[in-house]
Amino acid sequence: MKYIIHSFDRLKAESAARLYEETRDLEVLKIYWLANKRKDVQNPAVMPEMPEVEVVRRQLEAHILNREIESVELLHPKITRKNPEFKEALVGDQFKAVSRIGKLLTFEFKDYHGFMLAHLKMTGQFIFVDENQKFGGGHSLTESDFELPHKHTRVIFHFKDGSNLYFNDMRLFGYLQLVAPDEKESIWNGYGIEPGRPNYTWENFEPLFNKRKTTLKALLLNQKVISGLGNIYVDEACFRSGVLPFREVPTLTQLEKKELFKHGSEVMMESIKRGGTTFYSFLTADGKKGNFSDELEVFDRAGQPCYKCGNIISKIKHAGRGTHFCSTCQK
Ligand SMILES: [Zn+2]
Repeated sequence: MKYIIHSFDRLKAESAARLYEETRDLEVLKIYWLANKRKDVQNPAVMPEMPEVEVVRRQLEAHILNREIESVELLHPKITRKNPEFKEALVGDQFKAVSRIGKLLTFEFKDYHGFMLAHLKMTGQFIFVDENQKFGGGHSLTESDFELPHKHTRVIFHFKDGSNLYFNDMRLFGYLQLVAPDEKESIWNGYGIEPGRPNYTWENFEPLFNKRKTTLKALLLNQKVISGLGNIYVDEACFRSGVLPFREVPTLTQLEKKELFKHGSEVMMESIKRGGTTFYSFLTADGKKGNFSDELEVFDRAGQPCYKCGNIISKIKHAGRGTHFCSTCQK
């Protein structure tokens, strides 16, 4: 078996598929899928979720703080919610901190007494460029996204030292919005408990299931209940927990809730560690690094055999979203 795995790269896809038919070996299958996936759908076009936004936050924090904003270019007024004071408020100022709750990025400034809230929504991206490096994150990136500005660039922060921060958003659902401190507080208070935050405890998690006449996936996607879990990670957490996403909440056992509590957090933390599912960092022209999409077990795998049991992964529409599951591994 070792020989087969090591020589795998040399096999054509067809013979590899035959190989799996013959061996029914799940380890061989996984290598087969990943090897082929890299050629076809290396970069699934998915909207940024919490881990992707957290990775963006970390990159921004590492690169944009304490640089003087020389000018702000607004290429589309919708992004700043048509705030006529947006530019004036920030020119000459510096970013002081970047925090996040759920998928909402929140910027603080040295002088401006307020916050800039930034949401990437479906297709938003932040890309930072200076003479040595380019960092980007958010919606799936391709190399052409780094030729900036381009037709989907909506806002540019020009820093005095020559570096630039670009906000791109093809669909224009994202926003950069200036808010007063009390407004920021009330928006932050609207979010539920969140994996990675101190409020994500079993004591806070368990009661969320009480008196809910909805399905598991709908509940987990509700940001007012649990903040941060989005479509990809709900499907993955349900798979790891062995629970079907469309189960009615009152039918869940205590053990299943415990599994969901554990995996809901673990899958997010692992993804952040791996750089998210859509994040790419181009330190050099070809400095692409691996990401969490290689770890996905059900999401984006409809029609493929399950890594655990070999059964075909199903996809249905549920809670308004594409929902992936294994009908053998999940009950
Ligand atoms: Zn399975």
